Amino acid sequence: MKQKKNIGAKLLPNLPPGSILSEIRKFMEVENVPLFRFVQLVTSLQRGTEKFQDVKELPENVRQLLVSRFGETPLPLNPVLVQSAEQVEKVLFETQTKAYVETVHSRYRAGWSSVCISSQAGCNLGCAFCATGATGFTCNLSADEICAQVVHSLWQKLPDSISFMGMGEALANPHFFEALNVLTSDGYGSFSPRRVTVSTVGFAPNLHRLTTEYPQVNVTLSVHSPFAEQRMELIPLEHRFSLKENLSILNQHTIKTHRKVYLAYLLISGVNDSIIHLKALEKLVKSQKRPELFHVNVIAYNNAVGAKSDYKAPTEKNIIEFVSELRVRGISATRRQQFGASIDAACGQLYAKNFL
Ligand code: SF4
Repeated sequence: MKQKKNIGAKLLPNLPPGSILSEIRKFMEVENVPLFRFVQLVTSLQRGTEKFQDVKELPENVRQLLVSRFGETPLPLNPVLVQSAEQVEKVLFETQTKAYVETVHSRYRAGWSSVCISSQAGCNLGCAFCATGATGFTCNLSADEICAQVVHSLWQKLPDSISFMGMGEALANPHFFEALNVLTSDGYGSFSPRRVTVSTVGFAPNLHRLTTEYPQVNVTLSVHSPFAEQRMELIPLEHRFSLKENLSILNQHTIKTHRKVYLAYLLISGVNDSIIHLKALEKLVKSQKRPELFHVNVIAYNNAVGAKSDYKAPTEKNIIEFVSELRVRGISATRRQQFGASIDAACGQLYAKNFL
């Protein structure tokens, strides 16, 4: 006998246990609410609905059931402040435990949109150039809190791409893989892993896991100095997981997948912008097994609250010269365009200042 197909199955997100959506699904099952009602709820949330009462597809009694069990909204984040600059919107979110994180949504003139999300409130890795690191660590965000920054009514529609480049080191958060699972599953975010970028300062064990389990996700590894001793000052995690160890993971990844990986190089005037640094960076890239798959993103340092006071932004001329000299030497390199520095929304600047 032909088996009956479960029509809603493809639309059902693959939910980590304990997440709010999985709790809702369980609850609806117990209450004998048919599965397609859950799919209707998820679809409505994706469209930006915030409150159960506003999910018009659901019958009134189901909406009331949900409100009585979960409160007015299934969303774990409350937006408390929105700031805007050219092509950029920065939102300060409050979690239910009163932690604060910032999310940056960009709408580019070319017509696509991207959301830069936080994975931790604060961070305990203490990178010397970073405002988030200077605030210390408050908590890891849950998978729900991470996903809610992506699927939020404030953006009006789902963004085209997601980058884990906001507050915190995503790979140090034990809930990161649950969130990635939800976002890339059919039925909720349904994001192609190719539209997700994870930036890391080099949390090697989980970088290995990421490249193994999600080979299509884009990876950016922060280098910032080709010299181990100086890198330890900039990124103390170098003491635990060296650049060498992280590059060896990316080497395996490029050999296996032939996918491009990105090396971020934060250019700080008088610190890591000398010709000696440039030559050492060139040597580092050329020593990789598939150097043509390593792309260097040069990022101008932005003044960051709490960062070392003698760090200064490079001049326009220096940035342009650094990038073109890398190219002359055969390294694939570009400057990363940044928006939102005027509202502290650019690289390294997020720290949820209004609530410190
Ligand atoms: S750069 Fe990233 S890992 Fe380093 S302190 Fe800032 S948020 Fe943490």
